[in-house]
Amino acid sequence: MKKVAVIGGGITGLSTAYYLHKIIQERKLAAEIVLIEADERLGGKIHTVKRDGFIMEVGADSLVARKRNVDPLIDELGLREEVVYNATGKSYLHTEGKLKLIPEEAVFGIPLSLQALAESELVSAEGKVEALKDFYTTNETFTKNDSIGLFLEAFLGKELVEKQIAPVLSGVYSGKLNELTIASTLPYLLDYKNQYGSIMKGLAENRQTFKSQGEKKFLSFAGGTSAIIERMEQALPDIEWMKGCKVSRVIRDGEQYTLDLKDGRSLVADSVVLSVPHQAAQLMLANESLNEDFAELIGSSLISVYMGFEVSDELLPENGTGFIVADSSGMKCQASTWTSRKWTHTSTNHQLLVRLFYKSSGPHYERLQGLSEEEMLQEAMSDLQQSIGQLPQPTTYAITRWMDSMPNYHLRHHEVVQSLERKVAQQYPGMFLAGCSYYGVGIPDCIANGEATAARVAELL
Ligand code: FAD
Repeated sequence: MKKVAVIGGGITGLSTAYYLHKIIQERKLAAEIVLIEADERLGGKIHTVKRDGFIMEVGADSLVARKRNVDPLIDELGLREEVVYNATGKSYLHTEGKLKLIPEEAVFGIPLSLQALAESELVSAEGKVEALKDFYTTNETFTKNDSIGLFLEAFLGKELVEKQIAPVLSGVYSGKLNELTIASTLPYLLDYKNQYGSIMKGLAENRQTFKSQGEKKFLSFAGGTSAIIERMEQALPDIEWMKGCKVSRVIRDGEQYTLDLKDGRSLVADSVVLSVPHQAAQLMLANESLNEDFAELIGSSLISVYMGFEVSDELLPENGTGFIVADSSGMKCQASTWTSRKWTHTSTNHQLLVRLFYKSSGPHYERLQGLSEEEMLQEAMSDLQQSIGQLPQPTTYAITRWMDSMPNYHLRHHEVVQSLERKVAQQYPGMFLAGCSYYGVGIPDCIANGEATAARVAELL
């Protein structure tokens, strides 16, 4: 009987175990699976906290609905009836001390019509006139290797870019727009400019491509996103579960691997899946020849603050689901979701539940990360009151610090992952790296990666 050790019980490790278990049963293979998780709780970055009538997703809050690879899994786990979608609504930008509507007829803040440009609350009359040059200038010099920031400014004007487009895009691309190339961000905008003579016209002509904007784009489950984790665990009663067991070292021992656990125990496996963040994999392997590659995988940090109140969420701006923050705003957070509005299942009786995000790319992060829970809560209350007005103290809250946990796929990322894969295959036959550090951050990507990893492990059984 061969033993496969899956280390890490986040969505990637669980998906690997789930699909591998299926293959073992279908092909009647003589193999067993042990899943080892450091925490007592499975799920890793998927973590639903239910408290005082609120559902708070302190990690990931949803799955992108258009990624269809998750559909069969949802059905197999009996979760179809539990699926909930985000409510669609208006997004705001907090700028110059107040919330202003981001024009609805816009993609990444770029207006799709003259009317959308004319009606914007975010740009002055001069800024709007400047943006019109997009319709009568032609592109003579820009290629996809040029800066996206400079490209947008050249045709849409500095003010529209600074006040309306950059704040929206900064939520998607955390780097400064002037330091990112057109190729690595929105290459089709250059094609549109060349083909239609105007970025705005090109976007408008292709608006179908961006139709999902404003539609039900995300899904979760009535009992919270962790439902997918719970159902996967329930679906695997006959694998071995080792929760609350941290693996400290993985040592190759001929054709097998010895896994040393932090509590002093050890176990032997024929095949190992390292579905842990890359920092943990690096520590477990303690292999000089991999360190350079591991060091090139970088992650950013985030503090998530939820606050639940005894007041109704009707006090929020009509149909609004949250806001992003412009640099000029003076607030410390970078974005806020009005959770009870966007996800109605998260709050009984429509009581106000909000979430604020403090990213490590933000100017105040260094100070904020040193604050106590109480101090952090005060900062969040201050941001909230600046944005939606006076509120009583929250009846519940959850502050979660995700240190170096959000992988940042830079331009060399793919190359670095390939180099690691080559070295691991050479030095550790039967061992596989998996998870968000390498192969995609979104939950559907992690599930797909788990399925692919299971197939590769099964080839060896
Ligand atoms: P993890 O979830 O990190 O799992 C790794 C597991 O390994 C953990 O359980 C950890 O405890 C365990 N482990 C670590 N070291 C050891 C050890 N030595 N021994 C044993 N076990 C160990 N994605 C979306 O699709 N939608 C979202 O809305 C979304 N929002 C997000 C919000 C936040 C704040 C964060 C942090 C991420 C978000 N993501 C979102 C991304 C997504 O949640 C992650 O990419 C995904 O959950 C990662 O899964 P994973 O299994 O690869 O890694």
